[in-house]
Amino acid sequence: MSKRDYYQVLGVNRDASDDDIKKAYRKLAMKFHPDRNPDNPKAEEQFKEAKEAYEILSDAKKRPAYDQYGHAGVDPQAGGAGMGGFADAFSDIFGDIFGGGRAGGGGRSNVYRGADLRYNLEVSLEDAARGTETRIRIPTMAECEPCNGTGAKKGTEPKQCPTCGGHGQVRMQQGFFSIQQTCPKCHGTGRYIPDPCPSCHGAGRIKEQKTLSVKIPAGIDEGDRIRLSGEGEHGMNGGPAGDLYVQVHLKPHTVFKRDHDDLHCEMPISISTAALGGEIEIPTLDGVARLKVPSETQTGKVFRLRGKGIKGVRSVSPGDLMCHVVIETPVNLTERQRELLQEFEEISQGNTERHNPKAQGWMDKVKEFFSG
Ligand SMILES: [Zn+2]
Ligand SMILES: [Zn+2]
Repeated sequence: MSKRDYYQVLGVNRDASDDDIKKAYRKLAMKFHPDRNPDNPKAEEQFKEAKEAYEILSDAKKRPAYDQYGHAGVDPQAGGAGMGGFADAFSDIFGDIFGGGRAGGGGRSNVYRGADLRYNLEVSLEDAARGTETRIRIPTMAECEPCNGTGAKKGTEPKQCPTCGGHGQVRMQQGFFSIQQTCPKCHGTGRYIPDPCPSCHGAGRIKEQKTLSVKIPAGIDEGDRIRLSGEGEHGMNGGPAGDLYVQVHLKPHTVFKRDHDDLHCEMPISISTAALGGEIEIPTLDGVARLKVPSETQTGKVFRLRGKGIKGVRSVSPGDLMCHVVIETPVNLTERQRELLQEFEEISQGNTERHNPKAQGWMDKVKEFFSG
């Protein structure tokens, strides 16, 4: 039976805080609790699944193990400490890697899947809209070449651990009891390296920078992830590599704000353009568009330019560009401008109702308020 990803089960991101995880679990637990869902085996399954995911992800030790090795890192059925489960699953295939074979059916093969990696990539709005290809450099743990990942100096090989005979576990007699413990010499791996490789000091892996080319599909949005399969950390001793997740972040744009497929921008216009109307130039992602501003345009008015937004990765047609009108009060007035405005004000006096109905309406309400 394959298990679902614990983060998926709880519906949280991989970088969710402990608090988010707790909240998500509470919500699910309330929803699927057997008391609330009598005779509903599916809800019971979901309850158990959420509980298990929470137990792992809320545990400061188990969560990193899960992040790195997946279910195999934390599976209680996988037999004891660490990543035994995963290694066991592969031991049939890779068990003989260290020459010595699986003496007595013991020895752990030490085969791990590489960790998934995440790379935060900042993308400009233009590149996100049109799509692009970019190169990223990422640090990664690669298999050490001189020793082929074994950790042993060239020409030597890891030996079966003499303390545990390759079993990874030792039996200790304590009073009447015989207890099994992880071998202190090999830490459960069942082998030790008499001559460590000088390049990796016996780890079998070295830190490396690699350059990757990433295709950014047109329409990608903040928070989208691009999965590069097998580009995560190398596996150990023949284990599969992890995946690389490129997490997209949009750089703030000087003119546009993005909201899914729509774009928003502010459009300051002068008092006279607002009152008399006119034509103004609007920037769009594919050049300048002209927009007719009708006379008597008010602040807050939104003009929608259809199809001038962004076509999302999964959308059939592009969104719109919304231009939000902001009427700008003129500043740094000259003597002449001041005169004209004063004159304008004088000839408008007594006609507020006609020229400024909003202001008139407001004044009426104020009067009403004070007269009770
Ligand atoms: Zn040992
Ligand atoms: Zn090495």
